[in-house]
Amino acid sequence: MAKKNSESDKSGGNQSGRDNMDRIVSAARKSWHEREKGYRERSLKIHPWVCARCGREFTRENLHLLTVHHRDHNHDHNPPDGSNWENLCLYCHDNEHSRFLDHSEGGGAEVGDEKKETATFKPFAGLKDLLESKKE
Ligand SMILES: [Zn+2]
Ligand SMILES: [Zn+2]
Repeated sequence: MAKKNSESDKSGGNQSGRDNMDRIVSAARKSWHEREKGYRERSLKIHPWVCARCGREFTRENLHLLTVHHRDHNHDHNPPDGSNWENLCLYCHDNEHSRFLDHSEGGGAEVGDEKKETATFKPFAGLKDLLESKKE
């Protein structure tokens, strides 16, 4: 924390530059929000307020827990007929994305033979994959 001379406080210093930055940031945030809101609202109009995975139903009160998922994971692919959207609850949406990641990892088949007793339960299998992929 750099303390400036109290004298310069009165003049306002860099205030206008800071305002400008705030405006840019809030504009960017707003346009992202508008876009997100755009397809979300359209998807909620086209599809029922039900999670496509677990079947949980939503009302106006908890509608913020219902999210819109892009089937092909491309957020810029927003066909107006809603064919790329899926209404998912937060949990299923999370699941969907971690499953997609698992899938693209390829599920390596190289599990060490020496530890056969842990073959059915491999709590660190995913971690191992992560560490190994980071090494490359
Ligand atoms: Zn769900
Ligand atoms: Zn998604």
